[in-house]
Amino acid sequence: MVLDTLQKLLITMVVFLPLEHFLPRLKDKKIFRKNWSLDSCYALISPFIISASIVFVIVLASLVIDPILPARIKEIIASQHLIIQVVEIIIIADIGYYFVHRMFHEIPLLWKLHAIHHSIEEMDWLAAHRVHPIDQILTRGLSLIIPFTFGFSAAAIAMFFVLSGWHSYLKHSNINIRFGPLRWILVSPTYHHWHHANEEHAFDKNYAGQLPIIDIIFGTAIMKETSGPTYYGTDTPVPKSYVGQLLLPFKLLKPQKKSAPLKTEDASLSGQ
Ligand SMILES: [Zn+2]
Ligand SMILES: [Zn+2]
Repeated sequence: MVLDTLQKLLITMVVFLPLEHFLPRLKDKKIFRKNWSLDSCYALISPFIISASIVFVIVLASLVIDPILPARIKEIIASQHLIIQVVEIIIIADIGYYFVHRMFHEIPLLWKLHAIHHSIEEMDWLAAHRVHPIDQILTRGLSLIIPFTFGFSAAAIAMFFVLSGWHSYLKHSNINIRFGPLRWILVSPTYHHWHHANEEHAFDKNYAGQLPIIDIIFGTAIMKETSGPTYYGTDTPVPKSYVGQLLLPFKLLKPQKKSAPLKTEDASLSGQ
C-alpha cells in the first residue's frame, strides 16, 4: 500500500507538473507554494486512514442492506454492460456526494472541519488532498454505500475510482483549460475553483463533485466558465499544521468558553 501510494503520487506529479507549468491558470503560482508541505502530508498519510475507514463504513452498511435487498436486484445490476454500470455509479455517488457535501457547509460544526479543504488559497493538483479524513470518510463513504452494496461489479467500481481520482486532481489543478459545452455535463476546473472562491456571491455554490446538473437542479450552480475567482480561501480559522488539523475534531467537541476563539498561534487568520 505504501508503494502504491508513492507510485500513484509520482505518476500524478509527472502528468500535472508539466501541464501546470506550460498551461498555467495563474502564471505566478510556484510548485513549492505556501502549504505544499502540509498538502504533501495529506497526500502521503491520509490515504491509509481513509481507505481503512471507508471499508469499515461499507462493511457496516452491507450488514444492514444485504439481508433486506432482493438478490434479483443485484443480479439485474450486475448483468448490465460495464460502461452503463460506471455511469450509474457516477450518478448515484454524485447525488450522495452533493447532499453530504452540502451538509458539511450548512451544519456549523461540520463546516469547521470542511473549512480545512476551503483553506486552500493556491489551487493545484496537490491541494486536492487537503481534506480532513472524517470529511473524506463521510462524503466518500456515504456516497458509495449504494454502489458497493447493490451488486455493481468490482471492475465498474474500480473504473469509477480511477476516473473520479483523476477528475479530482484536474478540477483542483492550476491548468488553464476550458470545457466549453462539456462544462454542462462534467465539473470543470473553473467550476470547482468557484466552489473555493472567497467571494460572497460564490459561497455555498457548486457542491457537485462531477455532475453540474445536480447543482443546476437545486439552484446552487455558478456556470461562469470565462473567468475564475480572484480570491480563494476561507475566513474560518483552521489549525496550520497537519497534526493540528487532524486533531481538530477533538478541539471542536471539547466544551469551550463562550466566544473563546481557537488559539491564534494555531489558527490561520488568512482566508475567506
Ligand atoms: Zn465545500
Ligand atoms: Zn475542492
